[in-house]
Amino acid sequence: MMKNLVKPTVFGTRSGYIIRFTCPNCLKENSIMYNMPKAYYKESRDGTCRQCKNHYTVLTPGKN
Ligand SMILES: [Zn+2]
Repeated sequence: MMKNLVKPTVFGTRSGYIIRFTCPNCLKENSIMYNMPKAYYKESRDGTCRQCKNHYTVLTPGKN
């Protein structure tokens, strides 16, 4: 069985210290909360869908 090493990429939005993204697989809205600005202001981070447990690279390009 082939292992998929490349995580799919999704776009998220910043709101407060929360990154929100919609899972493209099950369309569940997920949010990731950050306490550290350093992680929050990165342009990409790992995200996991709470519903289907898929892993994604969540991008938030643009304004910081
Ligand atoms: Zn999902």
